[in-house]
Amino acid sequence: MASDEVMRFNKLKRTKMARNVWHFDVRYIHLEPIPGHILFLFQPESNYVHFEHLPIARDNKLSDTYQYFPETAEEAAPEIVRAIVHLFLTDFGRKGIEMQQKQKQDLQAPWKLTGEEKHLALAVGKEFARVGVNPSLCAVEQSSEDVLEDALVSFLDVYSRLAGARPTTLLQFPNSISFDYDPYQNLPKELKVVNRKEEVPSQKAEYMDRVLQYIQFVETCSPTTPEKADNPTYRMSETIIATEAMLRRPFAELLKDAEAGNVALYVDCASRSYLGFGSPRDRQTARNYLIKAAFHPESSDATRATAHALLTRWYHDIAGPGQEIRMRYMYASLHHASLALKFARSIAPPGFSIPQITSAFGDIKELITKDNPLVKRQYPVVFAALKETKERCERELQASLTRMKQPLRYRCAAVGCGIEADHGRMLKRCSGPCDEDKKPHYCSKECQKNDWPNHKGFCKPGAPCSVVDTDKALNSAPLSKKGQRSILINTPGGQMNFASSTISPQVMREVKELMEKREIKDEAELATYRRAMKKMRNFELEIVKTVFK
Ligand SMILES: [Zn+2]
Ligand SMILES: [Zn+2]
Repeated sequence: MASDEVMRFNKLKRTKMARNVWHFDVRYIHLEPIPGHILFLFQPESNYVHFEHLPIARDNKLSDTYQYFPETAEEAAPEIVRAIVHLFLTDFGRKGIEMQQKQKQDLQAPWKLTGEEKHLALAVGKEFARVGVNPSLCAVEQSSEDVLEDALVSFLDVYSRLAGARPTTLLQFPNSISFDYDPYQNLPKELKVVNRKEEVPSQKAEYMDRVLQYIQFVETCSPTTPEKADNPTYRMSETIIATEAMLRRPFAELLKDAEAGNVALYVDCASRSYLGFGSPRDRQTARNYLIKAAFHPESSDATRATAHALLTRWYHDIAGPGQEIRMRYMYASLHHASLALKFARSIAPPGFSIPQITSAFGDIKELITKDNPLVKRQYPVVFAALKETKERCERELQASLTRMKQPLRYRCAAVGCGIEADHGRMLKRCSGPCDEDKKPHYCSKECQKNDWPNHKGFCKPGAPCSVVDTDKALNSAPLSKKGQRSILINTPGGQMNFASSTISPQVMREVKELMEKREIKDEAELATYRRAMKKMRNFELEIVKTVFK
């Protein structure tokens, strides 16, 4: 803030009178299309009311409005102080209070300020002192109950005007914000990394684990492409290699690239800041990068969709599982979810959108619509996506129940093979005289041959089933349009269901072996692992569904 502004503010005429005591609070107005924070100023004696969008106009950029989402009183205070000083110098956007005072009007600069929230009152007082404002204003007090009551009545009037034609009684009322919470309390685990030079070899597998966790964090917030819809871990190996290379780069270098025009990298800068991956963990910094990615004119639809989805997650993480989400976080997350889904529309096929959004809101849908019937109308895109996704999942569930009913048809009967198919036709069945419902199926001639000594004695009508281990639940076998075989691979990041419609069962088992044997002890083994990954990529393997821990 310019010091001459502070000087002028200090010189404003003020007397120690009740009508020079001003109440303020900060609220989040969740009205579309541009939700944001407002400063509410109220003078109880004269009933004078004013609200001002925060932050007050700077460059008049849309992203400025989004930028401001304080999570602590200390973060909120500077903008509030700036706005209060500005408002009294310009007579709340009219002629300037200096003018008014010449005209001997009633409105006067404050000699005392009161606020609803204790933390905020304290922080605003400190900020006034810091910028050099008249000391009498630096002891911000808490507003009395009477003042709060009057302020509420006055605010209702303002709010109904803001809401326009909308029935305000059905809109959740924006209370004054309180800062009595810790924004870091429920964040996902920090993915701290040590300097690569200090890394001991045994930590490399652990490192890969974190790489996979990082990928999962970003992937679930990315719109589902048609390829991924068909095959949930489409190009997973490429993604792993590319992400690992990106994560090895120093953060500063990445940021420089993003600033130089590689806008999509802002998403990685944000994710790394958020998870503390090679950069200090910082929510607000992460948010600033996400806003850059979401609103940069050069951003692609995919980048915008991902950035808005990550913002949605950013708001959601304020509440832990089973906890209630704070109102302004919920509305802000719905707002960004709508935008994310809008940008995802040109990318994701029907029934698919952005996994993070449908799963996060699917969980709390009942909760948020119960008391707020208008929410559905306010964010139709979100609720439409939830409905479409739910219907698709139900169809998939039906298909998988069909498979569960006939496990023999979908799983290679050879002991130790582990190959499963998503379509009965993918496996060959025994052509012998054994009963239809007990027939073993095989992924290959080879497996059938290996299993023959076991099946031989059972291959006759009325004989019991020869297949062992059939009750072992089928893993969540892929549901692509084409028939596929799949095999479960245990990776440090969890189980990976590796599937393909073209690769031979033999190669699939080899890949499984390669990936499971991996215990990265040194550079040579890391190289072997990378070669295995590359091999998979070269085969254009279709890896399906990674089930991360
Ligand atoms: Zn087999
Ligand atoms: Zn048979």
